[in-house]
Amino acid sequence: MGEEVLDIAAVREKDQKGRHTTTRRELFVRPAGGVVIDTPGTREVGLWDADEGVDDAFVEIVSLAAECRFGDCAHTVEPGCAVRAAVARGELEAERVERYLRVRAGTASRAARVGRAKRR
Ligand SMILES: [Zn+2]
Repeated sequence: MGEEVLDIAAVREKDQKGRHTTTRRELFVRPAGGVVIDTPGTREVGLWDADEGVDDAFVEIVSLAAECRFGDCAHTVEPGCAVRAAVARGELEAERVERYLRVRAGTASRAARVGRAKRR
């Protein structure tokens, strides 16, 4: 490109994997011809496009959640939680629910950080 247009970072020593330096899709037209398309990985679905990707990845939990007594149910200790009920009946793995809740918590705090960064 003739100038620095992208943030780059070294891969992790341990496993030679990337560190999520790319956070959005971008296309660069090279002066010498051709294009470079930089895309973030999709390994951790939903982390950057927040709620939509997470809901797609845990669709059965999201549809159960519609049956929870409270609209803002956190699926932890609330009475009438349809997600916990499904776990109790053996229809849903508790571990999968935990993963869903962790990912949701991650997108929430990340979205808050991105929001703060945008307001600067
Ligand atoms: Zn619930």
